[in-house]
Amino acid sequence: MHDPYGRKIDYLRISVTDRCNLRCFYCMPSEGVQPLRHKDTLTYEEIIRIVRIAAPVGIRKVRITGGEPLARKNISFLIKSVKAINGIENLSLTTNGVLLEKYADELAAAGLDRVNVSLDSFNPERYSEITRGGSLDAVLRGIDRAEKAGLKPVRINMVPVRGFNDREIEDFARITLVKPYQVRFIEFMPIGARDLWSKEKYIPVNEIKSVVEKIGGLTPVKIRKSGPARYFRFDNAPGVVGFINAVTHQFCGECNRLRLTSDGKLRPCLFSETEIDLKTPLRNGASDQEIKRIINLAIEVKPEGHSIGCSDESSFIKLKPMSKIGG
Ligand code: SAM
Ligand code: SF4
Repeated sequence: MHDPYGRKIDYLRISVTDRCNLRCFYCMPSEGVQPLRHKDTLTYEEIIRIVRIAAPVGIRKVRITGGEPLARKNISFLIKSVKAINGIENLSLTTNGVLLEKYADELAAAGLDRVNVSLDSFNPERYSEITRGGSLDAVLRGIDRAEKAGLKPVRINMVPVRGFNDREIEDFARITLVKPYQVRFIEFMPIGARDLWSKEKYIPVNEIKSVVEKIGGLTPVKIRKSGPARYFRFDNAPGVVGFINAVTHQFCGECNRLRLTSDGKLRPCLFSETEIDLKTPLRNGASDQEIKRIINLAIEVKPEGHSIGCSDESSFIKLKPMSKIGG
């Protein structure tokens, strides 16, 4: 299905929990955020029903996220069930990687196609500082296990923050010279850590790219369904680097996604608080036809673009943390 601006909406990003086993400083306050009560979180059966109804509307690609999706019990059941839905061609998961070593084989066996691992430092102390206690070693073992399990190509998402990890941009890009990974740099968004985001800490994609270009020439690479990322390769490199200018919002015109929050709201745009409640009708006996109409409505009200800018420090105050929305 196309939205009123001609964008084909075929991607559903599902947050299965707002809880997390880490507290990344740019995502959450140190005390965490008040978690949803379990009864307010969509059950797997409810999520599966929504995907089953969304597939004929045109959803082809599903990403499972959170909070930390691997921290929710029996996630492989959901993976297996969503993968079995007619029309779902691509199923992926975004994780902090801490539990990936434990679950990679099981996830691959359940039908998961690939994983995105969020990793912001290769320095164990800095990693622990950024995540407020996470173990870098566990994540690296997880990435290795995911690769061996066939969850490929492994994607690593890094958020460079000035003064914290920006000196590592080059190291991250260099991995693609030796590993077949997709290393993607994502602009630090004005969401979540109220006391942390500032214009000074934010690094625009152009600046990140100019650091990466110092390593060597980059050739643009066309990757099917690359979404908002722009990909490049160094000569003869097995991997690729990608850049996502989330804040400088050059990707709204290609945005193909809807989000489903863990409390059952359809969110047409990450940066807009417009949400449409699906949980209440689901739990009040709505028919498939009614649920389908609500999904169509979310597509119809998807805004053309967002107005967040890197100079707009007040705008993020209105937004929930990514762990609540589903990053
Ligand atoms: N826990 C999983 C993880 O970390 O991959 C999935 C959920 S997390 C909210 C999804 C993504 O959101 C992560 O890649 C994280 O880096 C990103 N994220 C969270 N807050 C962000 C912010 N303020 N700016 C940019 N990216 C952010
Ligand atoms: Fe948790 Fe992911 Fe947010 Fe880090 S970015 S606190 S891992 S939800």
